[in-house]
Amino acid sequence: MSEIEIIDDVLYMYTTPFENWWSNHIFFETEKMGVVVYDVPFLNEDGKALWEQIKKYTSGEISLFILSHGHSDHWSSIDFFSGVAPDAAILTAKETANNIQIMGKAYVNWTEMFGTWSHIPELIIKPTETFEKEKVIDAGDFTLKLYTTGPAEDTEHTVIYIPELKVLLANDVIYKGYHPWNEEERDGHWLRVLDWLRTFDVKTVVPGHGPVCGPEIFDDMEKWLTLYQDLRLEYAGRYGIKDMPPENREKMIEEMKAEFPDWVEGDLQISCGKMLAPPYSYGNNKYSVTKI
Ligand SMILES: [Zn+2]
Repeated sequence: MSEIEIIDDVLYMYTTPFENWWSNHIFFETEKMGVVVYDVPFLNEDGKALWEQIKKYTSGEISLFILSHGHSDHWSSIDFFSGVAPDAAILTAKETANNIQIMGKAYVNWTEMFGTWSHIPELIIKPTETFEKEKVIDAGDFTLKLYTTGPAEDTEHTVIYIPELKVLLANDVIYKGYHPWNEEERDGHWLRVLDWLRTFDVKTVVPGHGPVCGPEIFDDMEKWLTLYQDLRLEYAGRYGIKDMPPENREKMIEEMKAEFPDWVEGDLQISCGKMLAPPYSYGNNKYSVTKI
């Protein structure tokens, strides 16, 4: 996978080659606002690599960062960017701003207590601007329609729809070719979000992880989430995924892999409760689990 993909000669998608995550970050130059950046990488060194690409393809005059959701592989290197674009606004949904504060503190606490996870944010960022529900930004040559989704892969996401390009920037509501992270089991509302996204007139979907795709991805995501629900009912019954007996966990993982043999499985282990990603594994699972 190349690090830069250009979409409709307008949008630049930078994929962070960090471990096995392949997070996507998008930047573009606008008539009215200079450069807009949608999500930045986890590590400052990857933020710096993204910054080099931004300078290569645009004026480098960043006026706005839009952060899609609270997971730190989409916002943490704002730490670096605050040095090269100190006056740029940082916009998130209100719930995401809240989640960044809560999660950021939990990451820092976890590492102080156990020192097991090296990839923590350097600091907990504060968005300069928040919004609720929807926000329309006239960028001049095209429009950015920001919509909050409610719970899906995170407690809240901001997707961007650009009607002139029929492009949907979907962040982690959509994974392409990767088993999604569903450790917190928001699959019920996530499916509702997918149904709603189907109502958009979309030609191109830019996922949070994986290559650029088309609206057929909605079917793939629905299939994954529905199978997950069916198998959870079969193997966990009325319990949550983290309380599922270990032998059933293995069966569920194998069945998911069999149905999606080409998908990268890193997060599947976590989604089926086999490994718990910090800071969640505070002992709320009655079976012993592998800590990462
Ligand atoms: Zn995420």
